[in-house]
Amino acid sequence: MAFEHAVIVGAGIGGLLSAAALAPRFARVTIVERDELPAGASHRRGVPQGEQMHALLAIGQDAFEELLPGIGQAWADAGAAWFDSTRDVASFSSQGWTARGPSEAWTFGIRRLVLESSVRERVRVIPNVSIVQGTVAGLQASGDRSRLTGVTVRGAEPSMIDADLVVDSSGRTSHAVQWIADLGYPPPAEHEIVSDIVYSTTVVRLPPDALRADIRGVLAPPTPAHPRGAVLLPCDAGLHQIVALAQNASRAPADRDEFLTHLEDATTPVVAEAARRAEFVGEPKPFKVRGTRRVRWEDMASRPEGFVAIGDAVLALNPIYGQGMSVAAVEALAMRDEVARARTDDATGLAGRIQESFRATLDFVFDSGLRSDAHYPATTLHGVQAPPPPKSRVLGALATEDWKVAVAMRYVSHDFSAASLQRPEIQARVRAWISSGRGVRHNDPAVIPKPFAGKPLPR
Ligand SMILES: Cc1cc2nc3c(=O)[nH]c(=O)nc-3n(C[C@H](O)[C@H](O)[C@H](O)COP(=O)(O)OP(=O)(O)OC[C@H]3O[C@@H](n4cnc5c(N)ncnc54)[C@H](O)[C@@H]3O)c2cc1C
Repeated sequence: MAFEHAVIVGAGIGGLLSAAALAPRFARVTIVERDELPAGASHRRGVPQGEQMHALLAIGQDAFEELLPGIGQAWADAGAAWFDSTRDVASFSSQGWTARGPSEAWTFGIRRLVLESSVRERVRVIPNVSIVQGTVAGLQASGDRSRLTGVTVRGAEPSMIDADLVVDSSGRTSHAVQWIADLGYPPPAEHEIVSDIVYSTTVVRLPPDALRADIRGVLAPPTPAHPRGAVLLPCDAGLHQIVALAQNASRAPADRDEFLTHLEDATTPVVAEAARRAEFVGEPKPFKVRGTRRVRWEDMASRPEGFVAIGDAVLALNPIYGQGMSVAAVEALAMRDEVARARTDDATGLAGRIQESFRATLDFVFDSGLRSDAHYPATTLHGVQAPPPPKSRVLGALATEDWKVAVAMRYVSHDFSAASLQRPEIQARVRAWISSGRGVRHNDPAVIPKPFAGKPLPR
């Protein structure tokens, strides 16, 4: 026996993965998408960041693969780059170059529209999933408003679609807070970190000797002391992507001259040097993102049965940390498992349990972003307090010379867990370094140290 019908609002990454998660236990799953979806990897209005290379964290890749087995191979077939995120990418932090060494956190480099197109093609062929075009304009509820019964849709026939479960996956611009308030429920609390992030991105073809053979990408993210950053990463089709980015900024570089000037202002000159030698495939495309916004759907004291929010509709993140799709994938997997545990003859409380199952991931990701972003001078916070500045910078300093510590630190972001830093081997290295009294190494921004060799630190 199965649940009857799930309706998903939006065919972005969160919506497509939700369909894959629900299809095994629902007789029918309908995704309602505002855009006319292209047949292949073409630009569409609802995903303005489509040309942007999207990196997946290891935990996100595992979740994608579990929901859509073989999807990694589809990305490889679509020409995605595949690289070791701690050995092949050089990262310049506020304390210098992070030591590089082999890891089990390999990642795909692929433009969002290519990645999304592969996921969409996999979801389209699930027999009980359909995608219809239309704009969801509100929620339908039972007479006493205790339970959702469907959605209202503009631009589609019929204009009301019945559902036992409605999943809002309409992204950063979701109107679900208003829709729920329209039903008479007190709206959920919202927490916001307003960072004023700007991006300007271009795809380039690099001459073969633009980077040393041991380097496939360079990350020099902004820091509170130096809010202009630069990123160079491999993406699909043998291309690279260069990003000029900043926090607490009012506008993104809008043309090639501004773009190159911005890169020259970054903490390392390495990206600007590669950019000057690159063949630009397109012109720099500016984006502006307000910051991180979390809607605390899981904390609502009173909520209608049958409503879940997922992806950017719950937590829209500062994109600098490359976490959004991974969070959506981990949530979709948690939803699949929660639905698998539920009795199909009684869905009471199911939507609330699904929403609750996202909490630990959301707490971890939001809190780590808050620790990094709250201390920029012009950042403002709504609904949350700034945590105290970190007491110690030992880990970051040690990571400039100890590749195992550096990899363990990267696993914290890749796995949404600090467990890698608690390992006895890592703790012993930290203690030994503190008692040695040594300081930071490799802090010449123009010279990237060679990677270390060895057995990858297990994840
Ligand atoms: C510049 C930039 C760089 C990024 N880089 C990375 C990265 O490297 N790695 C990473 O993991 N993440 C990255 N992200 C974040 C990532 O793009 C998002 O987290 C991810 O797209 C969230 O997916 P979603 O499905 O929740 O929302 P979206 O992808 O925004 O999808 C929402 C969908 O809903 C549709 N829709 C909206 N309203 C309605 C409606 N009323 N009715 C019907 N349909 C509707 C839209 O058309 C759209 O298709 C980046 C984001 C930006 C802006």
